[in-house]
Amino acid sequence: MTAFWTEADYDDHELVEVVRDPKSGLTAIIALHSTHLGPGAGGTRFWHYANPEDAMRDALRLSRGMSYKNAMAGLPMGGGKAVILADADKTKTPEMLAAFADAVEGLGGRYVTAEDVGISEADMAAVAQRTQYVSGLPVEGEDAAGGDPGPFTALGIFLGIKAAVKHKLGKDSVEGVHVAIQGTGSVGGGVARLLAKEGAKLTLSDIHEDRAAALAAELGADTAASDAIMSVACDVFSPNALGAILDDAGIARLDCQVVAGGANNQLQRPEHGPMLAKRGILYAPDYVINAGGIISVTLEYLCRNDKAPCDINEVRKRIAQIPGRLEQIWQESEATGASPDQVADRMAQDLIGR
Ligand code: NAD
Repeated sequence: MTAFWTEADYDDHELVEVVRDPKSGLTAIIALHSTHLGPGAGGTRFWHYANPEDAMRDALRLSRGMSYKNAMAGLPMGGGKAVILADADKTKTPEMLAAFADAVEGLGGRYVTAEDVGISEADMAAVAQRTQYVSGLPVEGEDAAGGDPGPFTALGIFLGIKAAVKHKLGKDSVEGVHVAIQGTGSVGGGVARLLAKEGAKLTLSDIHEDRAAALAAELGADTAASDAIMSVACDVFSPNALGAILDDAGIARLDCQVVAGGANNQLQRPEHGPMLAKRGILYAPDYVINAGGIISVTLEYLCRNDKAPCDINEVRKRIAQIPGRLEQIWQESEATGASPDQVADRMAQDLIGR
């Protein structure tokens, strides 16, 4: 048996808890990477893993990612993540969610959960029946922080793309700038709409081709097949679907000046950041540019606990700081020769005292 703390993804996590509830059939892992800045915040993923080692790796990697993302977004939260190990049929029962909620409650607020892949707003509302340490719940009224994080993530990415276009191409607007978008779901679709409003030229792609085609028709955009989008000649490639797309082959195919999009964990391995830089492509580190959603979800949680204003303008104000943070990273990258992802990691580590 290999101990998980000998894994490359184990980074002196403060706590790793395995939750087993034989009655409901729940097996879950809650990983708290750092609570240096506040309670470890990050969603719960409900996923069928090929083996428990993959689930452990996911929990460790994702919780560290949340430490970095929350720190760089200036939020008073640390990094945590939970994974629920689903069976092959992805059976999810109220009893399982109840047992999971009790485990979160048992941590006494050191971990605050929310939705992630496979977990809906309704699931989180069920979890919230048994623990107060939940965010990402439905909110009432258009002016309240919280609710679906997708549009807030999209807003941050739009602003980040504008900053990258200014930095790399010297343009104040995205009018006429060609952006190729991979994935036209909640985030990618929102980014496309914001860019179209400012006159960008768009090429859209989704494995659900009808989804990309419908949006392209609405926005007057072109489409590309999902296996061709990464080699489209464009100014900006915006990945908003899968992680790990920036691997050796993916980077070799790119024909753009900038990579800026919302997908989590875009770099397959650490060496792929410097590889992008070597090709002269400006990279917006994913966990910095895609923080809009976590900003909204966190302010919703803090507002419910009387620790932050419940005002959507506060969310917008904080999202508007994303471009400045990116600019700081790019300037430091140019000054030091480190790639933007390396600069961002170093900044995040400093903030969390690592
Ligand atoms: P989503 O499920 O709404 O959309 C993803 C889209 O990508 C879908 O339309 C899907 O068909 C498409 N897709 C999947 N594989 C593809 C491929 N190979 N090529 C082209 N399209 C493909 O998800 P989302 O909420 O828009 O999230 C997108 C990405 O952004 C994910 O990586 C997610 O982890 C990340 N992210 C999302 C948020 C948020 O607030 N929703 C916040 C931070 C990061």
